[in-house]
Amino acid sequence: MTSSATLQALATRAGRTPFYVYDVAGVKARVAAVRAALPASVRVHYALKANPFPPLVQAIAGEVDGFDVASGGELALALETAPAGGFGLGFAGPGKSLEDIRAGVKADVLFQCESRRELREIAAAGVRAGVRPRVALRVNPAFELRGAGQRMGGGPRPFGIDSEQVPEVLRELAALPVEFAGFHFYAGSQMLEATTVVALLEHCYDCALELSRHAPGPVRELNLGGGFGVPYFAGERPLDLSPVSDCLHRLTVRATVDFPEAALVLEFGRYLVAEAGRYVMRVVDRKRSRGKTFVVCDGGMHHHLAAAGHLGQVLRRNFPIELVKAIAPVGAGLPATFGSKVPPTALATESVTLCGPLCTPLDVLGDRLELPIAEEGDFVVVGMSGAYGATASPRGFLSHPGPVEILA
Ligand SMILES: *Cc1c(COP(=O)(O)O)cnc(C)c1O
Repeated sequence: MTSSATLQALATRAGRTPFYVYDVAGVKARVAAVRAALPASVRVHYALKANPFPPLVQAIAGEVDGFDVASGGELALALETAPAGGFGLGFAGPGKSLEDIRAGVKADVLFQCESRRELREIAAAGVRAGVRPRVALRVNPAFELRGAGQRMGGGPRPFGIDSEQVPEVLRELAALPVEFAGFHFYAGSQMLEATTVVALLEHCYDCALELSRHAPGPVRELNLGGGFGVPYFAGERPLDLSPVSDCLHRLTVRATVDFPEAALVLEFGRYLVAEAGRYVMRVVDRKRSRGKTFVVCDGGMHHHLAAAGHLGQVLRRNFPIELVKAIAPVGAGLPATFGSKVPPTALATESVTLCGPLCTPLDVLGDRLELPIAEEGDFVVVGMSGAYGATASPRGFLSHPGPVEILA
C-alpha cells in the first residue's frame, strides 16, 4: 500500500494527475535477477517497445547488453541512449520503410530481417552506403505455441519468414552483398508457464540448428526471443525462472559445439518493466446509477488501454488497483478521521465500477472492484503498469491531455 503522502509528493513532481511513475531501482533489481538466473554468456536485451520513456531507457541502458528496436523512432531513441562500444542493437519489425532501413544501415544495426523484399532493400541500402549490412533472419517456426498470452509465431504469421522458406531465402542472401549474422526468433509473449518457455526455447534452438546447415556462414548471433510473462490478474503466478535457467544452461553447453561463434541473446520487454510502473489517477466524481456505483477518475483508457482490457485481451479483467485516501488539505474542515490517519483496515469498502473521463463505454479500468469508499480527490493507483501503458494507448482519443511520466 502506497501512502497518500508519497503519492501527493509524486503528484506534485508530476505537476498533475494522472501520471505514470516508474521505479528505476525496481527495474535494475529485475535485470539483476534475470542475469543471476541465466548463464553469464547469455546476452540480455531490452525491447524498447514495452516502454520507450527516454529517461527510463537511459537508466536501463547501463544494465543490459543491447536494445531491440522495431521502428525508425525507436532506433533514433536507442542511438541517443546506447552506451558506446559493444552494445547490441537489433532491428526487428515487419514493414520496415526504406527510410528506416537506411537509418539502420547507417547505424550498423543487426537487421532481424522479416521478408525477401526487406532483404533486397537492406542489400541495396548497403551498396548505397558502401557497407555490408549485418542480417539475421527472423524465423517463424513451424509449431503452434500453447500457453502464450499472444502468439507471434507458429502457423501463418506476418512476422518473420516461415522456417520452410528459410533455406531458399538463405540462398538468395548468400548472393547479396550482406553479412549473414544468424537467426532471430520471437514467437510468443506473456508466457507464465516455465514449461512453455522451455519448450519454445528448445524448439527454436533446434530449428536454428537445422537451418544453420543452409547458412552461407557461421551463426554469430542466435536470438532465441523471450516472451517471459508477468502476473497481471488474480490467480496468476509469476514465471518460475529455475527450469528456464536449467534449460539455458543446457543450451549454452550445446551451443559451444553447434554454434561456436555465436552469442546467445534473449530479449525482454514487459518482464523487466511491467511491475515497476504505476498509473496514478484521482477520483473526480462518484455517482449511483440504478443500483450501481461508478467512481469516475481523471485517467482512463486513452492513457492505459491495457488496463481497460482492449490491448489484445479476450476478457476484461481487473489490473491490481488500490484506492488511497487523499490527505485532507489544511483547513478543509474535514473530520479528523478523514485521510491517511484512518488505518486502511478500518475503512468500509464498496463494490464499484471504475471509469475514466472519456465519453465511451469502453473507458472502464475496473469492474466489480471492492475498494474503500471513494471520495473526490482520492488517489487510484493501477499497478503492473510499467509496460505497454502510455506507449500502447490511444492518447489522441477524446483530446484530453496526454499522460505525464516520471521516474521514482
Ligand atoms: C514485443 C516484442 C518483444 C517484447 O515482448 P514482451 O512480451 O514485452 O517481452 C521482444 N521482441 C520482439 C521482436 C517483439 O516484437
